[in-house]
Amino acid sequence: MSEKILEIRHLSKTFGTNLVLKDIDFTVNTGDVTCIIGASGSGKSTLLRCLNLLETPTTGEIMYHGNNIAGAKVNAAKYRSKVGMVFQSFNLFNNMTVLQNCVVGQTRVLKKEKEEAKKNALYYLEKVGMAPYINAKPKQLSGGQKQRVAIARALAMEPELLLFDEPTSALDPQMVGEVLEVMRKLASEGLTMIIVTHEMAFARDVSNHVVFMAGGVIVEEGAPDQIFGAPREHQTREFLGRFM
Ligand code: ADP
Ligand code: MG
Repeated sequence: MSEKILEIRHLSKTFGTNLVLKDIDFTVNTGDVTCIIGASGSGKSTLLRCLNLLETPTTGEIMYHGNNIAGAKVNAAKYRSKVGMVFQSFNLFNNMTVLQNCVVGQTRVLKKEKEEAKKNALYYLEKVGMAPYINAKPKQLSGGQKQRVAIARALAMEPELLLFDEPTSALDPQMVGEVLEVMRKLASEGLTMIIVTHEMAFARDVSNHVVFMAGGVIVEEGAPDQIFGAPREHQTREFLGRFM
């Protein structure tokens, strides 16, 4: 049975006089793999940042298991252990080793014992193929390796939902595949994810739901075969045409 994790209702966000998200509605159920596509500046990152409580919506509701967390007093670190985020620029702790990166959130936020946290970290580093690098510092790693560590770090918190903001956009082309492969594996294992991406073939393959944004609104959303194969809106066709 799939359960509703997040329900976004009438979410809007302004920066100064710039209305960057307008009346966004959508729902995330357990097991959903949602890809958000759209041109640069359409509001994709701002939306993910609202969902991760890095931005406060100007109006609207973010219902998390039925409770509105938008503007409410919530423990952000605790919430982010449930709704994690992987960034374009990795955001690893550069002064820590790979293993420490994957342990610190578990001990500080989840209050796990160090040994248990290490064991758990190793399990996820293994999953992303980074177990041989536990003692390396981020600066010794390639971009693709750093992103795989960032994914392991997020997974080690055992989130219900993982948000990815263009996880392969900062990578050299030869490293994109290794990160997408890890994400494909996570999708096949049933992890609930929202992925902002420009990798259209990947999005079509891996998602069960695609959201196309432009100018701060959801122009069209639906099943991947519908969005990519038979888009209803002119704007969607025009956007997808750029990738042909
Ligand atoms: P995308 O991720 O789709 O490229 P963003 O969410 O980053 O889009 O940006 C949407 C719009 O919001 C852009 O016009 C951007 O300049 C603006 N914006 C994003 N963050 C801020 C901010 N912190 N302050 C002011 N404007 C912002
Ligand atoms: Mg962005």
